[in-house]
Amino acid sequence: MMTFDIQRAGQIDRASLFHPFTSVADLMRDGPLIMAEGKGVRLKDIEGRSYLDGMAGLWCVNLGYGREDISGAIAAQSTKLSFFHTFNGLSTDVAIECAHALLKRAPVPMARVFFGASGSDANETQLKLIWYYNNLRGLPKKKKVIARWNSYHGSGVATASLTGLPGMHALFDLPQGPILHISNPHHYRKAPEGVSERQFSRQLAAELEALIAREGAETIAAFFAEPVMGAGGLIPPPEGYFEEIVPILRKHDILLVLDEVVSGFGRLGTYWGSQRFGLEPDLITAAKGVTSGYFPMSVCFVSPKVWDVIEAGSEKAGLFGHGYTYSAHPVAAAAALATLKAIDQEGVVENVAQLGPYFHAAMREAVGDHPLVGEIRGLGFMMGIELVRDRAAKTPFAPELRVGRKLLKDLVGRGLISRALGDTMVFAPPLVATKADLDEIISLFKAGLDAVAQEVS
Ligand SMILES: *Cc1c(COP(=O)(O)O)cnc(C)c1O
Repeated sequence: MMTFDIQRAGQIDRASLFHPFTSVADLMRDGPLIMAEGKGVRLKDIEGRSYLDGMAGLWCVNLGYGREDISGAIAAQSTKLSFFHTFNGLSTDVAIECAHALLKRAPVPMARVFFGASGSDANETQLKLIWYYNNLRGLPKKKKVIARWNSYHGSGVATASLTGLPGMHALFDLPQGPILHISNPHHYRKAPEGVSERQFSRQLAAELEALIAREGAETIAAFFAEPVMGAGGLIPPPEGYFEEIVPILRKHDILLVLDEVVSGFGRLGTYWGSQRFGLEPDLITAAKGVTSGYFPMSVCFVSPKVWDVIEAGSEKAGLFGHGYTYSAHPVAAAAALATLKAIDQEGVVENVAQLGPYFHAAMREAVGDHPLVGEIRGLGFMMGIELVRDRAAKTPFAPELRVGRKLLKDLVGRGLISRALGDTMVFAPPLVATKADLDEIISLFKAGLDAVAQEVS
């Protein structure tokens, strides 16, 4: 192990580590923040300063850091059988147990789970499954996939194309492939003045109908959605949204793919986002929380509707030519089993169901009237706070002021980790956070907000 002081560590980082989703220019100017330890909801950097992790890592460390039940399961499995694969009909005891445990917990009856190592690779799998499914059904024209602007579905060529963030398309020659983007359901920003959430949902449904009519339903295969949009700005659906959208998909034989990479395993106060919104998806993507971030793993849940076609077509199709070396990695499977067990035994979902409404109400109480706060939105342990220059007119700050980033840095100085999506500040704390932890997030946030308000006014 290298030992180094903060100065030298920062230097080596800047000179050697190519950071994802990072401005190189910012990194060169400000340097990295370097974490070294974690316990529960707290982190420590290499200088020993302590932080409350208001983001559960990257919405993944749902059960908190430093848990020996999960790290112990990982250590034991990597000693017992560190790797074996599931290609060519091979399997492992722990992968079988994990698949079974996940299917038992699915929000609707599911037929199979397909494993990967990241949310991106899982959504790549979903896209390929959708195309494969319609080829087997003799519908080779039915291939287009609809996603929403501001959605986040991953970083691969296909999944970044699906993702509705122009910043992830520019300079990468994306989007590519048969992908259609449609309006996101952000009522605060996108609904015309005086239009209620219900009315707005009906307008969005009409837009979907029109898109399908224009393209031809016979060319559209699937609709991708996060139950609550995460990385694209934390956007919950307006009232009635899915009730309006889903019947249209059903009518036109369009699969519903629910990207539950963030919402799965309790974040919205139900085990799945599907349950929170009464959805019956044909395919579900999960990742992040499945191992509480202790080991890379992703899961595609495949419904009987899709599976039956794959199984029936198998003799003719031959080998199912898709998979990853680390599909059903035994160590990941062991980490997932320990995580699932802890979620059940520790009432993690119930904790979010109980404290989620409190978190939102208490944040509103603390900063809901603050001159910089335009909207507080989200659900469960998923919260976005959009900063604005003028509350009444909903005027955003000039992007070059980088107010979100200013606040983010201020909060780091106070020992609170959040995330700035533009000028929307995000909290997605570990699902084991207590009322006292949430109160601490709120009071640190309020102090930071006041300080930044001073600075920008
Ligand atoms: C993080 C995320 C992904 C991608 O997962 P990776 O593990 O980063 O590839 C996909 N969908 C959603 C909703 C996510 O939040």
